[in-house]
Amino acid sequence: MAVLSPPSPPRPVLGLPVDASTLARLHGAACIVCGDRSGPLAPAGYVYTGSGSGRLGWAVVACPRHRDAR
Ligand SMILES: [Zn+2]
Repeated sequence: MAVLSPPSPPRPVLGLPVDASTLARLHGAACIVCGDRSGPLAPAGYVYTGSGSGRLGWAVVACPRHRDAR
């Protein structure tokens, strides 16, 4: 029987609690990479937060400079 490895998340899981600027990025209010709020911001996949075994995915956005550098 083959052992399946779990899919790895696209980014490292962020430990909780996060600071206010990180929370704004998780809410899609700023670029997930640099925190730019001026936009245009576009969907950039998901970031995960977690503590212990709990894990929560957030749909995040990125500015034009970081849209391709996920
Ligand atoms: Zn950016």
